[in-house]
Amino acid sequence: MFDQLKAAFGKAKCRVGAHDGEWTYVADGECGMRMVCRRCGVPQTRTTHRYGDWRYTGADDDCAASRTCRRCSHAEHRDRHEFGSPVYVRDGSCEVMKVCQRCGEEDRGLYFREHQFEAAYLDEHIDSVEASDLHRIPNHWNLRKCDAAVLCVRCGALKEKGEVTVLAAHLWSDWRPGRRGGSARVCRRCGKNEARRPGADED
Ligand SMILES: [Zn+2]
Ligand SMILES: [Zn+2]
Ligand SMILES: [Zn+2]
Ligand SMILES: [Zn+2]
Ligand SMILES: [Zn+2]
Repeated sequence: MFDQLKAAFGKAKCRVGAHDGEWTYVADGECGMRMVCRRCGVPQTRTTHRYGDWRYTGADDDCAASRTCRRCSHAEHRDRHEFGSPVYVRDGSCEVMKVCQRCGEEDRGLYFREHQFEAAYLDEHIDSVEASDLHRIPNHWNLRKCDAAVLCVRCGALKEKGEVTVLAAHLWSDWRPGRRGGSARVCRRCGKNEARRPGADED
């Protein structure tokens, strides 16, 4: 029973081209190979070159390269660029590219786009936010100086998809003695004052 099952599976594999056998080269100096399937007996052929390493064929700033088959001398030609790490295309944009260190070829693509999302003060970045995105920032026409949100500090892209979360990020001074025995602190950025009654917990 098991052997029958195995044979049935074997036939199915042969039908989809997954034959079973040893590939051998037909002749010296040629790359044609032949295999006779152990299961179905049908001979198969293919060509498999044995290439050496790629070598540049032109000047130092030319990326044309070739490699040669050690068996049949068949040569394959291709540009072999040596791209460096991604770099930004320009300031104020997050589009990045890779530049070939030999010939200067630029490889660009949306798949390389990398934003630098950070919590940032909106008054410093609102000008770089796309006009079509502004409506997603609550009160964008009347921002307070310390309002902050997470956005890309290079291009102004907003991280959140819908309405953006805006938080007041004050740069508070230490608490100092204030009026009537309480304490007070002031924001070093926007000048906002905050007072605390006597005996309230420190934060
Ligand atoms: Zn077969
Ligand atoms: Zn060959
Ligand atoms: Zn190149
Ligand atoms: Zn960006
Ligand atoms: Zn403030």
